[in-house]
Amino acid sequence: MENLFDLTGKVAIVTGSTKGIGKSIAEQMANHGAKVVVSSRKADVCEAVTNEINEQVKDGAGSAISIPCNIGSKEQLQMLVDETRKQLGKIDILVCNAAVNPFFGSMADIPDSAFERIMDSNVKSNHWLCQMVIPEMVERKDGVITIVSSIGGLNGSPVLGAYCISKAADMQLARNIATEYGGDNVRANTIAPGLIKTNFARALWENPDILKEATSGAALKRIGTPEEIGGVAVLLASKAGSYITGQTLIVDGGT
Ligand code: NAP
Repeated sequence: MENLFDLTGKVAIVTGSTKGIGKSIAEQMANHGAKVVVSSRKADVCEAVTNEINEQVKDGAGSAISIPCNIGSKEQLQMLVDETRKQLGKIDILVCNAAVNPFFGSMADIPDSAFERIMDSNVKSNHWLCQMVIPEMVERKDGVITIVSSIGGLNGSPVLGAYCISKAADMQLARNIATEYGGDNVRANTIAPGLIKTNFARALWENPDILKEATSGAALKRIGTPEEIGGVAVLLASKAGSYITGQTLIVDGGT
């Protein structure tokens, strides 16, 4: 029987894939047969995670290579794309996962520099990467883009305002791409995780009040783990997800 989740022969770039959600996505995609590009700012960490994935994947499954890239730099994003094409020949799947949040507090107090950094890294860099890979996907009449957004992009926030604006913009970016390129069989979606136990969200889940609010507000009465996002990215990239586009898939334990 056909395995609808098989990614054999596909090449996937996952930004910010040495930790947390991105790492889980890279691991799961490799386990489902994809050749995955592991990428974050630190070359040695990329190399270590690449080796870890290559040791983990079962025989006949996918593999990983490492290409470091800071998503804040357009030159480095272009290098990531060029080097992937040079080493693996093409890009079938793009996962824009890396994001930043340098500010916690009221929008009344956010410095322009923090606001701009959030928009640049979380929105403009994703837009640049999409611009760089879409022509190839259109030509091949096949491609999948997944942006890791957040449930923050669906809710107001008194303390993560600019971050939440950026995550809402990511949802619109995916809808725009889905609409413009759907006829070329290019799909684009976002995943909106709830609170997930990673370093990025440590300040939230280590705060007893925020943790209590997050767990009591979730139907499953707990926060999530990175592994609970990895499989969702496989679904969206695979044949199982071939009729899903322009969507935001909320993965938040029923919050
Ligand atoms: P994480 O565990 O801190 O991992 C972040 C990854 O991104 C690391 O590999 C990090 O490696 C890399 N990274 C950070 N800044 C980068 C940059 N400028 N350029 C390239 N890579 C960079 O974070 P996470 O929680 O998995 O977050 C991943 C995504 O999920 C983000 O888009 C976040 O907004 C979203 N999200 C998270 C939660 C949550 O509760 N955790 C909830 C909703 C949405 P280096 O630092 O070595 O570069």
